[in-house]
Amino acid sequence: MTATFAESDLCVESAVRAAVAAVNDPEYPDVSVLDLGLLESLQVESVTEHGAESVIAHVGLIPTFSGCPALKMIADDVQQSVESLGSIDRCVVSWLAGPVWDSSRLSVDAQSRLAEEYTVVLRRKDGSLLCPVCGSDAVMDQAMVGPTRCRSVAWCPSCRNPVEVMR
Ligand SMILES: [Zn+2]
Repeated sequence: MTATFAESDLCVESAVRAAVAAVNDPEYPDVSVLDLGLLESLQVESVTEHGAESVIAHVGLIPTFSGCPALKMIADDVQQSVESLGSIDRCVVSWLAGPVWDSSRLSVDAQSRLAEEYTVVLRRKDGSLLCPVCGSDAVMDQAMVGPTRCRSVAWCPSCRNPVEVMR
């Protein structure tokens, strides 16, 4: 039997949202997975199991890149963070097949942190790249292998800096 929250609903959901925001991406240790735009859905339900009531949070995330090896780590961290809330008994984290992540899901804060601290360049809607160091739009895509499958490395001919491209 399933009952949904009424008045306390928003309050519990914002607590869960805050718990998700407390989890940072393993690859960018001071950028939260919430700021990265990974959180797609959030649902809290109260379920009666074996005569006892449990509050279960369902968190739906979308990956930045489907083969990213950090996914398991992120899911575990989110689950742990949400379950540390006194109001949540269990958290179920799932990776959703859609929508497809794109850089427009990043918060303004995440965009500037990625640019300033990690020299990460974002591909714009027209496919061009903008250098996070000097602002040049002459960044060349290179077939170099990045540090992980989620990222690749490009070269800025204007300021001669290597920059990371977030896919
Ligand atoms: Zn540059």
